[in-house]
Amino acid sequence: MNQNLTTDRQTFVTHLECSIIGERYEADQLHGLSRAGRPLLVRYDLDAVRSAVSRDTIEARPTDLWRWRELLPVRHTSNIVSLGEIETPLVPLTKSGGPNVLVKDEGRLPTGSFKARGLVMAVAMAKELGVTKIAMPTNGNAGAALAAYATRCGIETIVFCPDDTPEINVREIAMQGARVWRVNGLIDDCGAIVGKGAAEGRWFDFSTLKEPYRIEGKKTMGLELAAQFGWKLPDAIFYPTGGGTGLIGMWKAFDELETLGWIGSERPKMFAVQASGCAPIVRAFEAGEEHAERWEDASTVAAGIRVPKAVGDFLILRAVRESGGQALAVGDPAILKAVDAAAKQDGLLLCPEGGATLAAYHQALNTGLVDEDDKVVLFNCATGLKYPMPEAPQALDRTRPIDFDAL
Ligand SMILES: *Cc1c(COP(=O)(O)O)cnc(C)c1O
Repeated sequence: MNQNLTTDRQTFVTHLECSIIGERYEADQLHGLSRAGRPLLVRYDLDAVRSAVSRDTIEARPTDLWRWRELLPVRHTSNIVSLGEIETPLVPLTKSGGPNVLVKDEGRLPTGSFKARGLVMAVAMAKELGVTKIAMPTNGNAGAALAAYATRCGIETIVFCPDDTPEINVREIAMQGARVWRVNGLIDDCGAIVGKGAAEGRWFDFSTLKEPYRIEGKKTMGLELAAQFGWKLPDAIFYPTGGGTGLIGMWKAFDELETLGWIGSERPKMFAVQASGCAPIVRAFEAGEEHAERWEDASTVAAGIRVPKAVGDFLILRAVRESGGQALAVGDPAILKAVDAAAKQDGLLLCPEGGATLAAYHQALNTGLVDEDDKVVLFNCATGLKYPMPEAPQALDRTRPIDFDAL
């Protein structure tokens, strides 16, 4: 048993709050969106957390996601199904990035993506609140993480993905015990099917930000960064933004850490990175809008950020603006070039979405949004091994003379 999970501690959650009008909702009850149709945010008694634990207590624990137990929503540890959620390393990307560029390599998490952080939490809460059947729209990685954790605790899952979702994602979802359906549409079209079934009472809707606890899981990225940077934060964070859960979660983590007195008031510039073929947040950012219109005919190699419409749009835009960062779009050719550069020059295989952050970093450097001295974190959200790679067709016939000079 993980040492961070040995006591069945109570949570410090006090209530939930509508992210747009602040309306209060009870803890320990099953919630989807708020009555205003927006995400719910989980609130904690941070004074009590401060009395219960210190930075030193946390640092003395094994380095995994559960060392942050007091800042997480699960009431009974027995409801947590863990697959080993490690703290992910910061890997320098010296050549293709620069001297101060670190990649937070989320590909090392269970199911090979950072969706594990959100789903391990959301599934534990679903179990705690008595949910037995879950449906979800996905571009691939979220479905895989849901399937793994839900299957592990006996919750039935039905997953809908766009029909051009990477093949490996569809297969891993099926292999891990979910019923998976390819749909001839985009992720929000899949979401509409999930919503319809949920309205009929067939299942619980696990769409991004439509249940409150995925943000809490993703928040641990911000908590980890604070600890890894010695209770300071980097100067800039580049986050590939689809639904934006991670960006919203990190921003929330920083506020909670400041209230605890564990970090100061400085914040990194948050860069929301999107693909030019699907950039609703960038368009809204540039137009000075608070919400983002749906992006029509969305298309990009970076499937994980092909999200035409995000329910948490205003939360992403708010965090980016408050931080002094920007929303940036990068084209597919730049994304693929960045993936290639990181692999060939630094030996680190990024997913396309991770490649997008590297491309965006160079764009920001060229336009003076960051400079070379800035300590920068790029998010690689999934293992590069899940994505297509160029062929390597050379073969050697060992029964014939070998031209060693040509090898
Ligand atoms: C889901 C996903 C993203 C986007 O994350 P959000 O927090 O939903 O914006 C980026 N990259 C990959 C590989 C993903 O699976």
